[in-house]
Amino acid sequence: MRIDGRKKNELRPMAVTRNYIKHAQGSVLIEVGDTKVICTAMIEEKVPPFLKGHKQGWVTAEYEMLPGSTNTRKSRDRNRGKIDGRTMEIQRLIGRSLRSVIDLSKLGERTLWIDCDVIQADGGTRTAAITGSFVALHDALSNMVNKGMIKEMPITNFVAATSVGIHQGEPLVDLCYEEDSNAEVDMNMVMTEKGEIIEIQGTGEERPFSKQELEKMLALGEESIKKIIDFQKETLLG
Ligand code: UDP
Repeated sequence: MRIDGRKKNELRPMAVTRNYIKHAQGSVLIEVGDTKVICTAMIEEKVPPFLKGHKQGWVTAEYEMLPGSTNTRKSRDRNRGKIDGRTMEIQRLIGRSLRSVIDLSKLGERTLWIDCDVIQADGGTRTAAITGSFVALHDALSNMVNKGMIKEMPITNFVAATSVGIHQGEPLVDLCYEEDSNAEVDMNMVMTEKGEIIEIQGTGEERPFSKQELEKMLALGEESIKKIIDFQKETLLG
């Protein structure tokens, strides 16, 4: 039994509220246990300079934790004058994850900005941000199709993410903060609905981990991401 009574392979309760913010073309509040992230997708009618004239679009992401989202106040990046390494790593991961399932040539020369704002953090904020922003992006792209801005949906696959780890020798999925902060091994997995890997970030912080342990975590993550993608589909199509 885990701290919150879950089984080893049990995800935290997940809720996705679509159209959460009025102005963005796609917006969701995603709740994964006590982790809450607002994800918006907004269109900008231009591409970054390196893509000008390439007849394709771009998808990019920003991520931030609000000062009150953690147990000790987190100063805003802009007040510290620079984006910290963790924030940079997470926002690039979100961008890469979403670009991997978008046919950018079908977007036209425009950028889709994904903004992920963590309003409450309890572990797994980056994975919640990826799962939630896929839904926000899907909504924004549907809006673009409906308005005739693009001919067809540029989405090639569903994508979602979760964390896995080893805590007290046991592989666990979807770690809450208390588990995460005591975990021997911590891993984030991003996968498509076909079970293909987009990205894996695995760290043996407390001790090295074996290939056998990696296999166990991969199996747990894959089974869980399938469930999360089913949930995304229900949310979007059901
Ligand atoms: N956390 C925090 N302050 C920080 C960074 C992290 O309180 O500056 C907490 C937060 O609950 C977060 C957890 O630590 O969800 C795990 O952080 P990690 O860097 O592993 O990223 P995450 O699991 O959120 O993707």
